[in-house]
Amino acid sequence: MTSASTPPSPNADPAELAKFSALAHKWWDKTGDFKPLHQINPLRLGHIERQAFGPNDGFQGKQVVDVGCGGGILSEAMASKGARVLGIDLAEKPLAVARLHAYESAATLKGSVEYRAVAAEDLARERPAGFDLVTCMEMLEHVPDPAATVRACATLVRPGGVVVFSTINRNPKSFVFAIVGAEYILRLLPRGTHEYRKFITPAELTRYARDAGLDAVDLTGMTYNPVTDIYRLGRDTDVNYILATRRPA
Ligand code: SAH
Repeated sequence: MTSASTPPSPNADPAELAKFSALAHKWWDKTGDFKPLHQINPLRLGHIERQAFGPNDGFQGKQVVDVGCGGGILSEAMASKGARVLGIDLAEKPLAVARLHAYESAATLKGSVEYRAVAAEDLARERPAGFDLVTCMEMLEHVPDPAATVRACATLVRPGGVVVFSTINRNPKSFVFAIVGAEYILRLLPRGTHEYRKFITPAELTRYARDAGLDAVDLTGMTYNPVTDIYRLGRDTDVNYILATRRPA
């Protein structure tokens, strides 16, 4: 837990953290404000596993850090497949919800999950090359300096390990779909969840990764069909996308 005397991380926006803390009690409501994260979770879980460990190996026994884990939707799913997961975030309430939920689902976890309030940059100093896999999903668009977060992720992963990022592209279509559509028309997300200027293009994220010493290995899009209420992975990276990178061995 962060004590009152802990200085705030320089690479965190207190307003963003407050936004997620205010919604924390709804984190595991599959029909509520975080419904989209629940809906995409099986898709991204399978994708991350394939990218990180190939077809013959899996999460079993792997050391994973989930950066910006929130209430732990992905962290717990990876632990349920046998990974030893550390979820980190700087918003206290989502972490409290994540801990409670992990306690409730302890019986279904093949691996383990624990949660800490620590900045990625600080954990990178503490445990460099400490993880087989780093996931950083739907988080970069909420931090002041995403390139610094990418560098921290690159430090956390072991040589030969994989870092997977997901975020939202920045273009007129993503403005219409991710903000107007998702927050105002379809009300999939609370208004104010996202700010257009913080969206990141795949080219920018690939450059941050390369500058941090990570090789881009896969770029996959994620699309939503409002008629069927179904998300899919595919080639369309115009709005949501997942970039998988690898630290050279
Ligand atoms: N990665 C999770 C949650 C995404 S919501 C998932 O995809 O299921 C975004 C999360 O990023 C929130 O929990 C928020 O508190 C966290 N976050 C925002 N800024 C952060 C920062 N600077 N450091 C760590 N976490 C941060």
